[in-house]
Amino acid sequence: MIYLDNNATTPILPQVTQAMLPYLTEEFGNPSGIYTIGHRAKTAIEKARGSLARILNVLPTELTFTGSGTEAINQGILGALWTAQAGRDTVVISAIEHAAVAKTAEFAERFGFRVRVAPLRLADGKIDAEPFAEAIDDTTALVCAMHANNEVGAVLPIPEIGEIAHGHGALLFCDCVQSFGKLALEPRGLGCDMAGISAHKFHGPKGVGCLFVRQGLKIPALIHGGPQENERRGGTENVAGIVGMAKAAEEVSRWDPNVATGLRDVFEEGLKTRLGKKCRINFEDLERVGNTSSVQFPGMDANVLLIKLDRFGICASTGAACHSGSLSTSSVLLHMGLPESGAKSTIRFSFAKTNTPGEVDQTLDVLSRIVSP
Ligand code: PLP
Repeated sequence: MIYLDNNATTPILPQVTQAMLPYLTEEFGNPSGIYTIGHRAKTAIEKARGSLARILNVLPTELTFTGSGTEAINQGILGALWTAQAGRDTVVISAIEHAAVAKTAEFAERFGFRVRVAPLRLADGKIDAEPFAEAIDDTTALVCAMHANNEVGAVLPIPEIGEIAHGHGALLFCDCVQSFGKLALEPRGLGCDMAGISAHKFHGPKGVGCLFVRQGLKIPALIHGGPQENERRGGTENVAGIVGMAKAAEEVSRWDPNVATGLRDVFEEGLKTRLGKKCRINFEDLERVGNTSSVQFPGMDANVLLIKLDRFGICASTGAACHSGSLSTSSVLLHMGLPESGAKSTIRFSFAKTNTPGEVDQTLDVLSRIVSP
């Protein structure tokens, strides 16, 4: 198998599995237990929190472990809105947010908030912050902007957006799920009041995420129950998942992100020389995370192409989301200016350090064979 869908999820590193294993076997204690194995589980969680805090350059008390990136996002957004001052009733989101953000903002409409979408504008190979300046005003409670987009890898100007938000007294939530391990990520340095990450996107386990909430900002819990996570998130902790998340973060933070970028660049160069006009690289000149390649194959149905790739054991994905059996065209690609036909013929290839140059070469071979003239 050649796995080129690392923005969907990543393979767990063997070191991560090893670190998790004791907490799935003999170290099964409940971290709230007062006996020794409970205490050891609690200690493992706090060690993981400390380690992640060092990597993110934040305080351990600013981190809450959650059950996914999606949960961290829900907790951050809904928590911030519950505490919004009277008169602050709008949420501004970028046009290319992941459903975890867009749907949570939409849910907030049920209790009186209005969602304003800041349109996407590209200027000089970058995403322009100006549309945010036009969308944010003194009624804005919260601004949500992702650090890096999952479909095309576009990097948003978070510090500028943060400055605009703060200038109007609004908070900034940043979805950093796709940037951790790929871009330098210091939520405080970026100007985020809140940020969310997810372990399975950086070679950790699925079902564990983490929410950063800057010191001084108090938001209520989303999941109510026991006093776990300093009363910020009820429920017995996923000890193995948390330990695995921190271990994956430690490993990935030592990696050179240029390795994945190098593979992506070789892939894109290979596409140009071997497929010529039979493919078009989307947003090639845009500031992108280094591992993501969004490619159009004009005249071809991306889903048909994906099935053909799968027959050769190659995993990639479309920009289109499949819900209840019906295929919808990617709104991100349309917002970014692609015509419907371009969006429907687009495939995302996302690389990681776990890929090899040989895999890139084989994928190019297969594409040369299956992309019709
Ligand atoms: N945000 C972005 C940008 C993502 O790509 C994803 C996952 O695809 C999520 C949020 C959700 O993370 P999780 O799968 O941990 O719920």
